[in-house]
Amino acid sequence: MKIYNTLSRQKEEFVSLEPGKVRMYVCGPTVYNYIHIGNARPIIVFDTVRRYFEYKGYEVNFVSNFTDIDDKIIKKAIEEGVDADTISKRYIEECKKDMEGLNVKPATRSPLATEEICGMLEMIQKLIASGHAYAAEDGTVYFRTSSFEEYGKLSHKNLDDLQSGFREIKVTGEDGKEDPTDFVLWKPKKEGEPFWESPWCEGRPGWHIECSVMSRKYLGDQIDIHAGGEDLIFPHHENEIAQSEAANGKEFAKYWMHNGFLNIDNKKMSKSLGNFFTVREISEKYDLQVLRFFMLSAHYRSPINFSAELMESSKNGLDRILTAVGKLKDLEASAKTEKLLDREDKNAVQELVSKYEAAMDDDFNTADAISAIFELVKLSNSNTDESSSKEFVTYLKETIVRLCDVLGIITEKEEEILDDEIEAMIAGRQQARKDKNFALADEIRGKLLEKGIVLEDTREGVKWKRI
Ligand code: AMP
Ligand code: ZN
Repeated sequence: MKIYNTLSRQKEEFVSLEPGKVRMYVCGPTVYNYIHIGNARPIIVFDTVRRYFEYKGYEVNFVSNFTDIDDKIIKKAIEEGVDADTISKRYIEECKKDMEGLNVKPATRSPLATEEICGMLEMIQKLIASGHAYAAEDGTVYFRTSSFEEYGKLSHKNLDDLQSGFREIKVTGEDGKEDPTDFVLWKPKKEGEPFWESPWCEGRPGWHIECSVMSRKYLGDQIDIHAGGEDLIFPHHENEIAQSEAANGKEFAKYWMHNGFLNIDNKKMSKSLGNFFTVREISEKYDLQVLRFFMLSAHYRSPINFSAELMESSKNGLDRILTAVGKLKDLEASAKTEKLLDREDKNAVQELVSKYEAAMDDDFNTADAISAIFELVKLSNSNTDESSSKEFVTYLKETIVRLCDVLGIITEKEEEILDDEIEAMIAGRQQARKDKNFALADEIRGKLLEKGIVLEDTREGVKWKRI
């Protein structure tokens, strides 16, 4: 397997630190609102990376945090007149609901920053003791970037350039810095803010220290993969490396993976431009599997553009796969003969599986992997019918489902929907169509699909099946 490593700016062969095991850490969201569809990209991409490692037989220890203390959370709490804790707890729960809808496997652990303060104080103390950090007069603790020779190695920035760039920028309240590139590990509380006791002042941690501490606590001094969106390369991940490597004396992560950004209608997503969508808003219109399928239709490192048309074509693409699987399930139930027919070529199927794996082995090229699935769907549609053998139909179905499962685009629906309910919904859809309310008709079809029911409009009327 090859992985593009931001650190070396090259695709490298993946060799795990411990045979058969992968330790990975993904920076999670700051929880002050519903997550937006940009936040959903790393969540989906790195869940897929994890699933593919599992498909290859690795045991994956997957840690992803929630940043539950930060300026934006405090601001929102003040606006609502509640505790910061109330805000973060609320949006962690909401984020988990969205993740479930996106068919994201729960992390092995999802630690919260506020529950790891002791570990942060310990690491900061260690950094001060070894000269890598210092406390200013006001109690702010800074990391001394000049003490870490390799500072800049991830973002490929040079400390001298950074220093001259930063010299112009004066951050209020950070007068005690020795050098403009030094960054905050601990800062004094402001009026009305949550705070913790520390040897330097009552205050709270800077943002970067939490990931260094949690990664070490739950995965050890060294990990295989550290990941997040590309905006985290600098300063967040650069600073994490400085803290962890200065404190632990070992290389922190072997592979650094970063997803590209999601834009909307070719523009940066922003509230002020009005092109901002939360995952929750999208879920009102689409099954979230469609959003997941959409995200994986591009290579994770490329920018991806979100638009209504692209979502529609993702919906159609996913429907095509689900319908093919539905057909195979039907045939499986009715197939009688066990004998393979001439047109039932398992090698052709295997070749497409190899094509899929080659794509995924090449830095998780999900776009090409999806093309291989479409080729399997085509093969299935043209090579199976009522005369097919059960063996071949089952083989094809299981192959397609297994490959889709790595991408997380087919879920086993737990809720069973009763036949009567299905008939009633179909009748509602027919009525909507008669009334020319096609939006409603589509919505009903989508709801049925969410429950694993595929409709087929035939001359004899609407047929349905479970997938
Ligand atoms: P934040 O809550 O801002 O710390 O972001 C959580 C994760 O979402 C980080 O890995 C970010 O890099 C990622 N992220 C934020 N906005 C986008 C976007 N528009 N496209 C892709 N990833 C994003
Ligand atoms: Zn982080």
